[in-house]
Amino acid sequence: NRAIILKQRPVGKPTASDFEFLKDDSELTIKDGELLLETNYVSVDPYLRGRMSDAKSYIPPFEVGKPISSGIVAKVIASKHNTFKAGDYLAGMLPWKTQQISNGEGLTKVNKDLAPLSAYLGVLGLTGLTAYLGLTEIGKPKAGETIVISGAAGAVGSIVGQIAKIKGLRVIGIAGTNEKIEMLTSDFGFDAGINYNETKDMNAAIKAAAPNGVDIYFDNVGGPISDAVLFNINKFARMIICGAISVYNNTELPTGLSVQPFLVKNSALMQGFIVSNYAEKFPEATKQLASWLADEKLKYTETIVEGFDNIPSAFLDLFDGKNKGKMIVKI
Ligand code: NDP
Repeated sequence: NRAIILKQRPVGKPTASDFEFLKDDSELTIKDGELLLETNYVSVDPYLRGRMSDAKSYIPPFEVGKPISSGIVAKVIASKHNTFKAGDYLAGMLPWKTQQISNGEGLTKVNKDLAPLSAYLGVLGLTGLTAYLGLTEIGKPKAGETIVISGAAGAVGSIVGQIAKIKGLRVIGIAGTNEKIEMLTSDFGFDAGINYNETKDMNAAIKAAAPNGVDIYFDNVGGPISDAVLFNINKFARMIICGAISVYNNTELPTGLSVQPFLVKNSALMQGFIVSNYAEKFPEATKQLASWLADEKLKYTETIVEGFDNIPSAFLDLFDGKNKGKMIVKI
């Protein structure tokens, strides 16, 4: 049995030396009410960077010397549990271990005949819920409006854009490579895309892609990309602040927004979004996502990295944009 612990809190961009692999050869034996789980798929996510620091946030930080945890799909190898049986596949937040004992709390049975197991960490998991609930609860999209999405070719962004298309919006995605832009417009039905790495004047590029202005901004990245979008918002625009990956590794506190005048003059709404605030809506939202998936109105893509050893590097690669769609490690 192997585990990955947080060796030290990263300063700036995390590196491989912030993680440590542990090995334990003792046999895992379960008691009444317990399960023995074998990890199959591990979700790596940008938000884990926040939990690696000890700054106060909406969830407690990881402890140094303890395993890191994230969304995992695991197979039940042995069970003395009332609900879950050997052979079942379960999804939930679990520590980065190859095998582990659990009392089943917080875990949900998933059906591998309904969707591939990895989908329960993406479109049918927190990723899909974040996209759907962020867009509908804060964005309140109306047909004919224009939405801009940053981090558009990532896990959340690629789903947001497709839902916005289903709702009848003009959809513009911002991402870091031409290949990603091509995927957004050709495979996912986005109306336009902007490669921020090859665009000198983002303000002008957004203006050109959104001639009627921006009604909704789904922000996954923060920083200068977001400032450029804000220069183009319409009256009563809504901005979903879902993430800010471009500043997660900053070592100094960001200075205040200088775009407030654009919010004032447009009576715009900017709201931070945390998916867990909407937990009571998860069942209904999951049902909607599964139905769009079944009807092929919603597609998804994944970048699957193989091997327990590669969990830290897959996580680090998120900050270099190595993924298209959901980054997942298959064990
Ligand atoms: P992604 O799949 O989008 O992966 C991260 C992507 O961010 C990369 O592929 C990369 O794409 C882009 N990126 C990396 N560095 C930068 C940078 N400096 N500037 C601009 N883009 C960058 O991750 P997720 O879909 O899982 O998460 C997206 C965002 O949503 C994150 O900020 C995350 O923290 C947040 N989130 C928030 C939740 C909530 O409840 N609030 C829940 C889940 C996610 P590219 O090649 O385009 O640069």
